[in-house]
Amino acid sequence: MVIRFWGVRGSLPAPLLPSQVQEKIAFVVRHIQAHDIESTASRERFLSELPLWIFGTVGGNTTCLSVSFDDDPANLLIFDAGSGIRELGLSESQRGKTARHYHIFFSHFHWDHIMGLPFFLPAYNPASSLDFYSPKPQLKAILSKQMEIPYFPATMDSFTHQILFHHITGSVSLCGSTIYYRKMYHPGDSYSYVVDDGQHRFLFATDVELRDADFCINEENKAFFQNIDLAVIDSQYTLEEFIEKFDWGHGAFSSAVDFAAHWGMKHLILFHHEPVYHDKKLYAILKASEDHIKSHKKAGLRVTLATEELEISI
Ligand SMILES: [Zn+2]
Ligand SMILES: [Zn+2]
Repeated sequence: MVIRFWGVRGSLPAPLLPSQVQEKIAFVVRHIQAHDIESTASRERFLSELPLWIFGTVGGNTTCLSVSFDDDPANLLIFDAGSGIRELGLSESQRGKTARHYHIFFSHFHWDHIMGLPFFLPAYNPASSLDFYSPKPQLKAILSKQMEIPYFPATMDSFTHQILFHHITGSVSLCGSTIYYRKMYHPGDSYSYVVDDGQHRFLFATDVELRDADFCINEENKAFFQNIDLAVIDSQYTLEEFIEKFDWGHGAFSSAVDFAAHWGMKHLILFHHEPVYHDKKLYAILKASEDHIKSHKKAGLRVTLATEELEISI
């Protein structure tokens, strides 16, 4: 399966400011030397050696990621419909191929996880099929509410008519995979998902404040959290800010590392970035996470910062 990130911010969109773009350009100009631009090769080397917080950005859109399967291009799994789903929709329009069947799972319905849905262009294509999934029975009413006057000029009736709402109470089988869910600690609850294709297991755990119960080694937790190849876990805060915002329903990067190491996960993606953290701070958090991993005896855990356009195959 291929996991692609379309929105990685928490709480609300956080686009770069002009002054932040200027800071990146000014850094490059100040550091470039004559030998860096004497050939194409030297220029490319210079660019490749720039810090990632300068030569890019983590992105400003809120939660959305897709899971695709090479052997099933007609279907696409989507997790959450934050503002990042607008980019996914534009990318789908540019594919120029036949309409797809979109299966959208929701972690919960805080605004940053649904705000992009009215801007998801494929939803308006009559040839698309849309299936929505949530363990919350009010799924249809909640999604319809944000597409009503005065919140939005078009209602969900303008979407494709091939649309279904699924109140899930157990596992779901799609695209040769099984999708499981688990209720997690967050104001109003959130749901984490595991996608298991029989060979690899992907965990999506956004908007979670990890609790002792999540670390408890029992059969239910083992079935959900063990043998995870790729784990996207809420790591919104530094440890200091987490202590200040205890019980807000999000996690510190260090507890995400502890949790992934505890369950023997292979690859952790730091996710749901605090909107006021700028790129430099987020890459410093990545470095601190790499250092924190070294404090765990079990080797082998990798950590990556979620960025828009990041794509990982497992
Ligand atoms: Zn959120
Ligand atoms: Zn939330």
